[in-house]
Amino acid sequence: MTRLRVTNPSRSADVAEPDRHRGLGDRVLASSELGAVVDGVRRVGVLTVHSSPLASPGVGDSGGMNVHVRTLASELARAGVASDIYTRATSVDDPPVIEIEPGVRVLHLPAGPLEPVPKQLLPRYLCAFLCSLLRAGERYGPYDVLHSHYWVSGWVARLARERWSSPVVHSFHTLGRVKNSSLAVGEEPEPPTRLAGEERVVSTADCLLAATPSEARQLTELYGAPPSKVRIVPHGVDRSRFHPGDQALARAAVGTSRKHVLAFVGRLQPLKAPDVAVRALALLRRRWPELDVELLVVGGPSGNGAEEPQRSAALARQEGVAGRVRFLPAQPHDRLATVYQAADLLLVPSRSESFGLVALEAQACGTPVVAARVGGLSHAVGDGTTGLLLSGHDPEHWAAAVADLLASPRRLAAIGLAAARFAGAHGWDVTAARLLDAYGELVQGTRMPLLEQSG
Ligand code: UDP
Repeated sequence: MTRLRVTNPSRSADVAEPDRHRGLGDRVLASSELGAVVDGVRRVGVLTVHSSPLASPGVGDSGGMNVHVRTLASELARAGVASDIYTRATSVDDPPVIEIEPGVRVLHLPAGPLEPVPKQLLPRYLCAFLCSLLRAGERYGPYDVLHSHYWVSGWVARLARERWSSPVVHSFHTLGRVKNSSLAVGEEPEPPTRLAGEERVVSTADCLLAATPSEARQLTELYGAPPSKVRIVPHGVDRSRFHPGDQALARAAVGTSRKHVLAFVGRLQPLKAPDVAVRALALLRRRWPELDVELLVVGGPSGNGAEEPQRSAALARQEGVAGRVRFLPAQPHDRLATVYQAADLLLVPSRSESFGLVALEAQACGTPVVAARVGGLSHAVGDGTTGLLLSGHDPEHWAAAVADLLASPRRLAAIGLAAARFAGAHGWDVTAARLLDAYGELVQGTRMPLLEQSG
């Protein structure tokens, strides 16, 4: 095997970040490190069976994972590492192979009906996907590393690995057991097939990537993953797209003339708890009627939230704030910066969140985040420094915290500055450098000690 060579071997943190954020990544690499030369890692086979990186995020099954897969492939291409991203064909119009930029191809594999299939039904098409993958691999492979996303892809990757002998890196993005421990009232638990599939992936993948120390702990404590397999690679933010901007212009662009604007951005489903944001807004209006505030809810229905937009709109009517809550359908990723810039605060009341890219994106725009103290959000938001972390989902508590912040423009501005500074140190280039590091170690057959970055 050839050796991993890194142009700048220094691994010390070179960007100051608030202490509260230690957990997100305690060794931030310089962007220039993306020029790293990783011998032995030239071609990566990426598996994302259930959702294409070409799908627009913010609705259905397309969200942070899609943004993550596509952006990292671009970053790796810039570092001289090519990615073939395999996904299931869902339409007769899906081209078998499409180069989306030099060094990044998306391959649509036939497996099951040529239409979208709910995630829960996908396991029945995984064998077909595997066969298509092995056939395509003969033509487009081989790969130095296979990187699978979400458990169904991990299931396929572990079998492809037997044929190709490429090491498998797996990212779960969400974990069934974690979701089941924080279900909203009436929400269906994740099925046993998923839990068993995840266990199998944990035991067979060569390396498990966790976005935060919390996810790393969940993998070891809830799934018995050997610590030596787990590696923390935090997510990032596209700093060229998400940056501070003129709030007045942004407000004009989103069509609001209120003094205060709150935003909720994400796929609408019970897990994301848009109801908490709507109820908090209603309480704000009741308790502090002088506050001229509105709430923008941005995103489309997803998974078990098919009725969520109507449910949230009905709740706003019932709470008497229909005129103060505006629902916008999922916005093109490019346009979201305007929403974040228009807002005084982003509310992220999720019941479970493995990372929460929207929190990092809003911070990159200089917008403080009020988030639930769950999962990755506890690492992505600095409590009292770049936003607030709230325990529980009591709308009273949320309304009081928001009112408090809106009443202190100076504090809000200081938090916004700290947020932009923090997010500025977490570009996708940093994530890509760490990912290359992980790939390189696998290819070399060496591994860093595990859970080195406990937070
Ligand atoms: N997003 C978008 N348009 C929308 C809503 C969301 O482009 O209308 C993007 C958002 O910018 C973020 C991703 O979808 O990059 C959501 O990621 P997050 O980690 O917050 O949640 P997930 O979808 O993974 O549950």
